[in-house]
Amino acid sequence: MIVYKSSEQIELIRESALLVSKTLGELKKYIFPGAIPIELDKIAETFIRDHGAEPGFLGMYDFPNSLCISINEEVVHGIPKNKPLKNGDIVSIDCGVLKNNYYGDHAYTFTVGDVDEQIIKLLEVTKESLYRGIKKLEVGNRIGDVSSEIQNFTESHGYGVVRELVGHGLGKSLHEEPDIPNFGIKNTGPKIQNGLVVAIEPMINLGVKDVEQSNDGWTVVTKDKKPSAHFEHNVAVIKGKPELLSTFDFIEKD
Ligand code: MG
Ligand code: MG
Repeated sequence: MIVYKSSEQIELIRESALLVSKTLGELKKYIFPGAIPIELDKIAETFIRDHGAEPGFLGMYDFPNSLCISINEEVVHGIPKNKPLKNGDIVSIDCGVLKNNYYGDHAYTFTVGDVDEQIIKLLEVTKESLYRGIKKLEVGNRIGDVSSEIQNFTESHGYGVVRELVGHGLGKSLHEEPDIPNFGIKNTGPKIQNGLVVAIEPMINLGVKDVEQSNDGWTVVTKDKKPSAHFEHNVAVIKGKPELLSTFDFIEKD
């Protein structure tokens, strides 16, 4: 069942989403060659608690940390490790917070030092696919319109679209209905209605679409070990139109 939100509830989700946005903006200051992922995790946890919220991922499904940090061929759900970031890496950071009983959940793939042009292009296209998908989240459309937009745009660049993991509804639970796949067929799936709040999150691979689970039980990696990008926003449908609840401005604007 899809739980549609009132405008008051949407404002609470916006508050949580914006705290994630600010946390990702704070983390950007600490992302450079030599940075230690487990230390980034602690910075985020402290920042979130200092802002009167709880880390949304810590303990969820027994996940051991506040951030999912996924490097290069790691797609999502990476457990923060001790191994320093190196020049040329990309690092996807997914962050959740719980405040006033509502979740925020979004993600950004950062570059570390000088990154190969081909990989920069992957990041640009993945991020653009997210915004293209968001535009389709309007009354009169169906979820399949969002999904097919993301798939068609990224596949037109020759990239692989991960099938096993998808976006989702967002609210008092981190993962609510409906699923928001990054692949699909136009004019299929649930109709989009006012009060829908979702996390849209394309996970796009430079190579093949196939992924596998690493033996830590969490980290999802690409089968061909080529890099993968992940960008996620929280979006509400208000007066028929999509409205971003999260922002990348804290990351991208100094
Ligand atoms: Mg997320
Ligand atoms: Mg999510």
